[in-house]
Amino acid sequence: MEAIDSYTQIQSAWSTVHSDAKKAARISQNILNTTTKKENALLYAQAEITLAFCHAHEGKNAEALSLVNQTLQVVEHYQSIEWIVNAKRVIGYVYSSLGDLKRSGDAFEEGLYLIKKYDLPIDPHYLNNLGFIYYELGEFKQAHNQLLEALAVAQEQQHDIVPLLLSNVADLHLQFGEIDEAEEFNKQAFTILQTKVEDRNSLAHCHSIFGLISKHKRHWEEAYESFALALKMYQEQDAKYAVATILIDMGGLYSDQGHYTHALENYKEALEIAESLEAVLLTQEILQRMSDVYYASEEYKRAYQYLLRYNEVTEQIKTKEVKDQLSRYMTEAQVERMQREAEIERLQLKRESEEASIRAQVLEDSYQDLKTVSEIGRRIIANQEDAEAMYSVYLDLNRLMDADIFGLCLYNKETQEVEYRAFVEQGILLSLSNKSIQDTSSLSVRCIRENQEIHIRKAVVDEDYTLRESGFPDKNPRSIHFLPLSMNDETIGSMTVQSYEQDAFSERQIEMLRLLALYLSIAMSNMLKSEELQLQTRKLEHLAKTDPLTNLYNMRHMKQLLTQSMETYHKSNKSFSILVIDLDHFKEVNDSHGHSCGDFVLQALSRHFQSFTRQSDVTARWGGEEFLMLLPNTDLQDARTIGERLRQSIEELEIRFNTISIHITATIGIATYSSKDWHVDELIERADKALYIGKEAGRNQVVAYGSE
Ligand code: GH3
Ligand code: MG
Ligand code: MG
Repeated sequence: MEAIDSYTQIQSAWSTVHSDAKKAARISQNILNTTTKKENALLYAQAEITLAFCHAHEGKNAEALSLVNQTLQVVEHYQSIEWIVNAKRVIGYVYSSLGDLKRSGDAFEEGLYLIKKYDLPIDPHYLNNLGFIYYELGEFKQAHNQLLEALAVAQEQQHDIVPLLLSNVADLHLQFGEIDEAEEFNKQAFTILQTKVEDRNSLAHCHSIFGLISKHKRHWEEAYESFALALKMYQEQDAKYAVATILIDMGGLYSDQGHYTHALENYKEALEIAESLEAVLLTQEILQRMSDVYYASEEYKRAYQYLLRYNEVTEQIKTKEVKDQLSRYMTEAQVERMQREAEIERLQLKRESEEASIRAQVLEDSYQDLKTVSEIGRRIIANQEDAEAMYSVYLDLNRLMDADIFGLCLYNKETQEVEYRAFVEQGILLSLSNKSIQDTSSLSVRCIRENQEIHIRKAVVDEDYTLRESGFPDKNPRSIHFLPLSMNDETIGSMTVQSYEQDAFSERQIEMLRLLALYLSIAMSNMLKSEELQLQTRKLEHLAKTDPLTNLYNMRHMKQLLTQSMETYHKSNKSFSILVIDLDHFKEVNDSHGHSCGDFVLQALSRHFQSFTRQSDVTARWGGEEFLMLLPNTDLQDARTIGERLRQSIEELEIRFNTISIHITATIGIATYSSKDWHVDELIERADKALYIGKEAGRNQVVAYGSE
């Protein structure tokens, strides 16, 4: 009785995790205190999942993840689909606040898949979460669809989340620049919330959207008021993440009006919260905004410092998510945004004092470098890889830094070798031999094997050339840098940049190299995939064309060749001939020596055909013991001569199968294509007819159609 009661309790606690996380946490904690895992493992797990969500809500991401990972196995064991879905939701929620949108999206999608498969009622919160992921990824259209679906479901269920969803839809309309629609949706939300005063979070959210709408309309006072209201409510609810987002919005408002000190105060407060929650996406945004504000208030050094911190966080996000697509997205987005802003700032700076533009030079340089790297990167990805493309990378690289050597190698897992795909020294493309992955002396190999960057800034003059991968013996690289290229946690190769000067590259330039390595990783892994695909395609094409026993072309392919020859004839009037070769009494070979001996004879004859014919002639296995030979540029007269020589050569051939010696003969029918009106099949029919006549007349002979 008590257990049933607890199940109901935990269900109801779960349903309030969004609206009243504190209450949900109390209930689940209570259940955990009064139940033991041994007595009631499922109930215990459910309480843990609920508690995990509450942790996530409070920004205790690590606790949430470890709890939910422990329990996932339990609910899976009990096949409690509903709670598997809930656990996935916690995972999705945690990863989204950690900024790992890919993992988050995956978890939500997995849950959604189960919901659909088992026809469970869809919790609109769920769709809302997915919508958020798309929103964060900048895929607003998809986010919009997801939210509309959530809204439809929620309205049907008369779910509490309806006003929150309405506000979110309003937010998206703002993204599309549709202010009127945004206002309409948000007002609907507000009307509903008038009757539900207890849902403070949704009301706060609604106010924050009103704030954004007012901001768009440049009604500054109203915007302040709405944000302040939202902030107060969120603070009362202790909803930290939301508090941070409002602080960011308010900071934006101040900075738009040139109140930089106020803006920075808000941002700093937001930054503290975001960092304590480990909410990296939020942190990243704040750092970027702070850099902008410092820039606008002409504090260039600070601006640059915050830009660097921004880059650090971006790097952190990148390594967390690893998955190629997302890292590509992040890099592209980051670079693009920086470029855009650099451009605007540059123009602004031009108008300002001489001194300011000198101080801004540092910033501008780094922006310009980023721009160059992204251009190079995009070109590499578009062109894939060939030696010429790599050579142009070397040239491009020299726009960023003075590199005497640029090299790129890939690791071939099958051969266990590291292959240099490009090595340019002093503008000359050199070819280097492969290195074994066991080679301990090679730096490129070490970089790949250990998946570690190698930086030698002051190489001693290297008399033994041990540091050299190859190149000019009278030159000594003094700055040597190797960066691994990796994709999905797997190292696929390495890139090197070297100079004859010591300490040739600055930290910033090394940063640029890292970015370049990321682009090269994407390009190389695309290229490896497409090479693999080409190989597979070639294998398949070969299989489709050939007969497995004899390795000769099969009938289908021969028919294509015949059609082509016919087309050539139509263009150039060059006649061609075909020989249909049927082995005589072949059945007897099988009958007296067995089928495998028959097979062996067919293979031996196929080899004989190959060696007998001219380069341009093509032989196919037409049927069981029947072959078709295509002789291009051959008239009937010549075909007869060739056919006769072939017949004779077969007759004289001794085929040895184990201890048995086999002699065989063949009858050959010939036809020549010399009339435009014929179809390929008609040509074959004529050769068959000639063959039949030859068989009738006693076999082992050559008969040409039209002169029989
Ligand atoms: P002929 O053409 O001179 O009239 O006599 P034949 O015995 O060669 O003609 P038939 O068409 O009656 O028989 C063809 C034989 O070829 C039948 C079949 O057992 C054999 N054969 C066909 N394909 C294969 C194969 O792939 N392997 C082996 N071992 N035998 C095959
Ligand atoms: Mg036959
Ligand atoms: Mg035969």
